[in-house]
Amino acid sequence: MKVLVVGGGGREHALCWALKRDLPHATLFVAPGNPGTAQLGTNLPIPATAVADLVAVARRHTIDLTVIGPEAPLAAGLADALRAAGGAVFGPGAAAARLESSKAFAKEVMASSGVPTAASRSFTELGAALAYIRAHTEPLVVKASGLAAGKGAVVCDTRAEAAATARAMLTDGKLGEAGREIVIEEFLTGEELSVLALTDGERLAILPPVQDHKRLNEGDTGPNTGGMGAYCPVSLGTPALLERVRREVLEPTLREMAQRRAPYTGVLYAGLMVSTDGTPFVLEFNCRFGDPETQAVFPILPEGCTQHLADIAAGRWQPTQPVLPAMRAAVTTVLAARGYPDTPERGAAIDVPTDLGPDVLVFHAGTARDGSGTLRAAGGRVLNVTALGATVPEAARRSAAASERITFEGKTWRRDIAWRELRRAGAA
Ligand code: AMP
Repeated sequence: MKVLVVGGGGREHALCWALKRDLPHATLFVAPGNPGTAQLGTNLPIPATAVADLVAVARRHTIDLTVIGPEAPLAAGLADALRAAGGAVFGPGAAAARLESSKAFAKEVMASSGVPTAASRSFTELGAALAYIRAHTEPLVVKASGLAAGKGAVVCDTRAEAAATARAMLTDGKLGEAGREIVIEEFLTGEELSVLALTDGERLAILPPVQDHKRLNEGDTGPNTGGMGAYCPVSLGTPALLERVRREVLEPTLREMAQRRAPYTGVLYAGLMVSTDGTPFVLEFNCRFGDPETQAVFPILPEGCTQHLADIAAGRWQPTQPVLPAMRAAVTTVLAARGYPDTPERGAAIDVPTDLGPDVLVFHAGTARDGSGTLRAAGGRVLNVTALGATVPEAARRSAAASERITFEGKTWRRDIAWRELRRAGAA
């Protein structure tokens, strides 16, 4: 079996780790990969969005399965192009990936299928957006409709701030193409939860619920980032809540997408706000595994779980479990470079002790080897330290202890990943 993983971050390293564990004899290619994936397979120096080059390389290496990590190649139609060339692909085509690449489209789908979500409207004209803002109560959330690498949603405490944000996106082109259309929506309260489900377009297998930490600093303060850590499972995500998410969010969305002739296959990621009465409101859909959520989820899925990806890609999936179990608990701490998220410093030499133990997995994200083989920081999020345990508090202690021992100049990280669960468990 020959497998191609597209992407080069911590998510892709974790996917490669799981694929290699389940299929030790498989030949693994990664485009472009990183020094972590290089230990598991062959890195190909091809950007994740170079659609034609990736189709050519999949042909040349007679790839049996392609797993696409990031959203940009999905939105660019990589899955469609590979399928048109006869490949088996895990990931939605561009039309289905619009659930992530156009928030305005996602809102429309949710409205027509009755999925709980914040009341909203989409705008391309500033005048209409300002009139809407004037007529609604504070706070308001202004979102760029397009892909904005996690920078597209702004929670605005006042109407004035909402108006300024709308102007910056629509008129000043602050987020470029992504902000040419915006969604303005009501502010929801509750606790956030991410529920990811594998799907072939009709059937679903829900993964253990996960929570990530988007803010840079401890206590969920500071600027938004791509994610500073994640943990799994989350006790807020009870079986009853997951059942509601299946019935009220995932199934109606899949039905609506099929009706629109954009059947959704791959992983559907629902970013939820669970209200105090337990209603799962959708804040956003993602069309791919999360980063760093994947690094916490895959290590605790049952062995053999990547077979689901292969079967979905091959169109021969026969899911037997509605929810895949978490075999243990996992906490992933992101080690970022000084200056992240705005201006991360590059080049610091990284030391990863070799005796971190069997319950610690170090996934590479922004790393590179220099000419002499020294591992160096080469991106904002540098390493992802996943620790496993019987409980989330145990995994959290192990992840923080290992993160402490890994060193590089400017290492920036949070010691409080999973704090909500620790508080629930009475451990903090
Ligand atoms: P999104 O990219 O839509 O997931 O938004 C990013 C973050 O903004 C979410 O994780 C929430 O913390 C916050 N957010 C987005 N929409 C809302 C909303 N309607 N009400 C409250 N917070 C929101």
